[in-house]
Amino acid sequence: MTDLDPQQVDGLTDLGPETFRAALHAVADVMADYAARVESYPVFPPVEPGSLAALFPAEPPDGPAPLGRILDDYRALIEPNATHWGHPGFMAYFATPASAAGILGEMLIASLGQNTMLWRTSPIGTELEAVVVSWLRQGLGLPPEFDGFVTDTASTSTLIALAGARDAAGFASAGDGVAGAGAAGLGSPRVYASAEAHSSIERACMTLGLGRAGLVKIPTDDAYAMRADALASAIRDDVAAGRRPIAVVATIGTTSSTSIDPVAAIADVAAPHGLWLHVDAAYGGAVALLPERRGPFEGWERADSIVVNPHKWLFAPLDASLLLTRRMGVLRDAFSLSPEYLRTLDRSTPVRDVNEYTPVLGRRFRALKLWLMLRWFGLDGLRRRIGHHLELAQMLAGWVDADPDFERLAPVPFSTVCLRYRPRAVVGREAEPEVAARLDDLNARLMDAVNRTGEVFLSHTRLAGRFTIRVALGHLRGEERHVARAWELLRREAAALG
Ligand code: PLP
Repeated sequence: MTDLDPQQVDGLTDLGPETFRAALHAVADVMADYAARVESYPVFPPVEPGSLAALFPAEPPDGPAPLGRILDDYRALIEPNATHWGHPGFMAYFATPASAAGILGEMLIASLGQNTMLWRTSPIGTELEAVVVSWLRQGLGLPPEFDGFVTDTASTSTLIALAGARDAAGFASAGDGVAGAGAAGLGSPRVYASAEAHSSIERACMTLGLGRAGLVKIPTDDAYAMRADALASAIRDDVAAGRRPIAVVATIGTTSSTSIDPVAAIADVAAPHGLWLHVDAAYGGAVALLPERRGPFEGWERADSIVVNPHKWLFAPLDASLLLTRRMGVLRDAFSLSPEYLRTLDRSTPVRDVNEYTPVLGRRFRALKLWLMLRWFGLDGLRRRIGHHLELAQMLAGWVDADPDFERLAPVPFSTVCLRYRPRAVVGREAEPEVAARLDDLNARLMDAVNRTGEVFLSHTRLAGRFTIRVALGHLRGEERHVARAWELLRREAAALG
């Protein structure tokens, strides 16, 4: 079938059902073959920037091509040149592979073609989203006062939350804009987050007119957690200077080191000032599914809003971000706009049109894949996998600690290990500028050498100014042997560097 030109078979309309079925099977084979083969690829393809676009014709195709040829090109040109997030050696950034169940969900999402902007444009999309949000909320151990919806990314979820915070603080920017806020004499708005908070918070401030200057980066302690005392004094200084504190973002699982801000203490500081508390648990939130591991989450139930990304450590394919909030009405005030063409005329039964809570109109039916995945794994299946990743991370941390030529650079509360090569000969001299610079250089070269093996892919950060290699576990297909191999490669390449 794949040799046939679909347009010739089915005329000017789309594929007929049987041609479509055959085409789906052909694509399903490509997908299953990829899953079988992914470990045979180098995790990061050995390509240079600019080399790939040249593989494709500069001019657009004028005529149709048979599916078989298109899929051949996919196999030859596209698949091998991807960064293989589905490879268990992918340990960079956060290891966030798409589960098989999530991929099946994506296929059904595409098939059903819902736009969940209004209840009327997708009754099931709207109502299943509410069901899935409630399931996840319960799984995370949060009270029923939290409602919410699913966005594309944590960046969007945080942007929405901070827009709510901005408006709740009296900067009625949705209506009057920035000029209106100035006229009301409220003072410059201030948002607080730790120096280790994700850049999406700064970007939200830039986008919302709060400005980068509106974000105060609070210093962290030795474990890279926000210092609640420093937060309290920053707020005091701002109030004394006539500025207007509006929100604080606490992170449970920061991007660099997965550090955990003391949410309960932060809530205690924020509450008397009426600050909006947003908790960024985009990565770490998955661990709250394990009741016995909820210690780091103490106080998050006091938040105004929380973000947890199923596309990070809950095995959903990009994209899916859960935004929970107690203040749906505020978010609606910040974004609601109903032009005539979107109005539902019969309003006898009130419905939720989710687009009214977000800066975008069109919305994918992300709840469908989350529903499928929750059915497939069950909360217990998710818990067991996350628990396994937590164990793997402890195992690696133990190996690092036991090696006199390596150094662990942060606690390991979740599934990411921060480390560096520090030959025993320089122990005690790490702070000397020359040694510090040499260690940075050595570790940058070490990471590069390991990545060039193609067997694993690692990324880096800087902690307390030091070049830090991050090993992010949490891969659905990751086993002990993959972690052991990554550690072996790190030691082997370090020894080769001298
Ligand atoms: N917050 C944290 C703690 C993150 O680690 C990340 C990304 O890694 C984000 C937010 C942004 O996530 P997204 O890519 O979904 O916008």
